[in-house]
Amino acid sequence: MNDFVTVSDMVVRPLYDGPLPTTLDKIPVEAHRAEAEALIEKAGAATLVMNVYAFLVSGPDGTFLVDAGAGPLKGADLGRLPQQLARFGVTPADIDAVFMTHLHTDHFGGLIGANGPAFPNADIIVYRREAEFWLDTPESDLPARARRGLDVLRDCMAQYSGRVRYVGEEEVRPGIRAIPAHGHSHGHVCWRIGAGSNALLAWGDLIHIAAIHLPAPHIAFEYDLYPEQALESRLRILDQVGESGMLVAGAHLPSPGIGRIVRAGDAFAFEPANTAVATPGDHSGE
Ligand SMILES: [Zn+2]
Repeated sequence: MNDFVTVSDMVVRPLYDGPLPTTLDKIPVEAHRAEAEALIEKAGAATLVMNVYAFLVSGPDGTFLVDAGAGPLKGADLGRLPQQLARFGVTPADIDAVFMTHLHTDHFGGLIGANGPAFPNADIIVYRREAEFWLDTPESDLPARARRGLDVLRDCMAQYSGRVRYVGEEEVRPGIRAIPAHGHSHGHVCWRIGAGSNALLAWGDLIHIAAIHLPAPHIAFEYDLYPEQALESRLRILDQVGESGMLVAGAHLPSPGIGRIVRAGDAFAFEPANTAVATPGDHSGE
């Protein structure tokens, strides 16, 4: 398996943070649950274990992460990010910026170090709408579910005081900009990395269980804060990447976390990057 893809002048590598099992109880709509059960039966029960990935982006303008994995917040099976970085000869001090898709535990936990910030030289880049929701809204004004673990998030971000950057849709670093895809969280975004058609979309939590949400994107999952908006974002982005054939990198995609999305009618499927990268000219319809 290739452990990297190249987009424009940047190299993107998946960093496997660990497994995160889930259950079908997390599907709020009864009818959807039966549909999902059939899909999981077909795909195999193991597909209910979500991978957690962060991504390493290395280029002429710096060394970056997209998300940071769960760190210490989701149990001992996760938090492998530092070892994964070491595999590529990268130390935490080398990271110049961390681009956050959103501020849920399995994405920001890895920012927490044993004695202060895990990435002592990094700016933490957060889409403004997401940052203001989690970091600046009085706790009593947040929905109850968003208050869980809020102190941990705010303490973590306070350790990066002065280096948490609120951004919009401008180019934040050369070739890197946010594409709004709200709904999973208040200001969830995808990060577009690269120029023109030579780009990759790091889409965060656009989908959770590939075996369910690619063939049946309409199936809601409890993790989405605003299910209808999440569905609208999911369909919009899936349409775009299915049409353009651009690479995607997903926090919870099957191994290796990077690949392409192929469309079949209303359904989508994931084509892992090892094939996609090995034969870049062989994809009809791209
Ligand atoms: Zn997640």
